[in-house]
Amino acid sequence: MYVVREAQVHVLGHRTILAPVSEWSYYGTMSRFRMYPTPAQAEQMLLHCAHARYVWNLAVEQHAHWQPGRKAAPSFAEQCRQLTEARAASDWLRAGNQTVQAQALKDFAKAKNARFTSGFGEPTWRKKHRHEGFRVIGDDRVPECNEDGTPKLNVKTGKQVMGRAVTVQKLNRRWAQVKVPGCGWVRIRLSPGGKGAVLPSAKSFRVTYKNGQWHAAFAVVPEPIEAPGTGEVIGIDRGVKITAALSDGRRLNCPQLTAKERAQVRKHQRRAARAPKGSDLKTAECAKVAKLKAREANRRKDWAEKTSTMLARTYDLVRFEKLNIRTMTRSAKGTVDAPGRNVRAKSGLNRSILAQGWGLLRQRTEHKAPGRVEDVPAPYTSLRCSACGWIEKKSRKSQADFVCVSCGFTCNADENAAINVAAGQGGIPRPRRSAGAGGTTPPNKRSSVREPQPEWVGIPLF
Ligand SMILES: [Zn+2]
Repeated sequence: MYVVREAQVHVLGHRTILAPVSEWSYYGTMSRFRMYPTPAQAEQMLLHCAHARYVWNLAVEQHAHWQPGRKAAPSFAEQCRQLTEARAASDWLRAGNQTVQAQALKDFAKAKNARFTSGFGEPTWRKKHRHEGFRVIGDDRVPECNEDGTPKLNVKTGKQVMGRAVTVQKLNRRWAQVKVPGCGWVRIRLSPGGKGAVLPSAKSFRVTYKNGQWHAAFAVVPEPIEAPGTGEVIGIDRGVKITAALSDGRRLNCPQLTAKERAQVRKHQRRAARAPKGSDLKTAECAKVAKLKAREANRRKDWAEKTSTMLARTYDLVRFEKLNIRTMTRSAKGTVDAPGRNVRAKSGLNRSILAQGWGLLRQRTEHKAPGRVEDVPAPYTSLRCSACGWIEKKSRKSQADFVCVSCGFTCNADENAAINVAAGQGGIPRPRRSAGAGGTTPPNKRSSVREPQPEWVGIPLF
C-alpha cells in the first residue's frame, strides 16, 4: 500500500492527481486492481486487445523474418511509420486507437531489448483469449523531480521537465476510476480490505483480460524495504510438499484450491466437455472453471507478496536455493518419433511446481530487497548434513526425514536443506566418474545419489 504524503497530492478542482511513484512511501505493494467496465466499455476494450495483439504479432513476424545477411528488422521508429501507413490502408485498424497500437509496438521494443535479462526470452506470438491486454499511458502532465526532490530541468532550455501521469479519480473508500481511450472512465476496485487512501500512481498501466476478469496493472516497481540491520541470514528451500522451508524451522505453504474447489473444477470441466460445441452451456461452464482458476492464481500472488515483504523486512540476507524452474518443468512429452515416459506423472509434477509460485516469491523478494537476495548453487543441499557437512544419500531416509549416517544428526529434511542454503553451501560438485555423495553416475544415466523421489506427486486438478 502507498501512504500519501500530504504535500504531494495536488488537488485540482474535483480531481486528485497523484505524484510519480518515486515520491510515495512504500509499505508493501498493490499495483493490480480489478476493473469493472460496463458491457459497452468491455466490448471496446476487447477491441483494443485485438488491435494491440495484431500489431504485436506483426512486429514478431517482422523480426522472425530476419536472418543473418538480410536487412535489419525495422526499429521502433520505423515500425511506428509503418503503423501509420497500415492505419491508412485498413479500416479495421483505423477504427482503433492509435496510442494503444503504438504502445503495443513500444512494449514489443522493450521486450525485445530485455530478451536476455527478462527471463522471458525472445518475444513471441500473442494468442486470442490467452494474452489479452493493452497498455494505456497517462494523459496528465506532472512536473518531474530529481532524486533529491529538486525540480528536474531541461539541460538545454532550463525549463521544467513534465512527465506523464495516470489520473486516478477516487469515488469513495472502495472505488476509483481511470480513463481508458475510447471508453471514458472505467471503474476500478481499490484494495479489497477497504483500507482507504490506497491509490495507484504510475506513468502508465496495462489492462489485462484473463479468466473473465479485467485488471489494471500499474507500472510500479516497489521501493526497496530497508534491511533490519540485524545481520540475520535466512535460507529457503523450496519444495513441492512444503512450499518454502525456512532455515529457522518455519514452514510456509502457498495456499491452493481446497479439495472441494478442485472437485468443482473437475465437475465444470466435465460438463463443459460434454456440452455441445458453441452452446451457451459450454461458455457458462468454461467461465466457472476460469473463475476458480483465477481464484487460485490470486491466492498464490497474495501469498507471494505477503511472504516476500515479511522476508525483506525480517532478514538482512535472503538465500534461495538456485533452481532452474524452466528446466525442472520441461515437458516429458518428447517427440512423435521418441515419445517420453511417464508423461502424465511429469505433467502433474510440473503443474504442482508451477502452482507453488516459487519464481514469483524469488522475484518479489528481489524487488523489495534489492542486493539482499542471493542464489545458492546447491547440488546436494538436500543430502548434506547441516551439522557435520557429510554428504551421503543414505542420510535421507525419506521425503521428510534426514538422519545423518555420520554423526546421527536428526532433522526434517527440508529444514536441513534450508540450513545448508542459509550457510551458502551444498556439496562440491565432483567429477562425474568419481563417486559424488557416495554414489556413481553411469554415463547417460541418472545419478544414483538422486533425492528419494515420492511415489506420486501432484495436485489432482483434473
Ligand atoms: Zn552429520
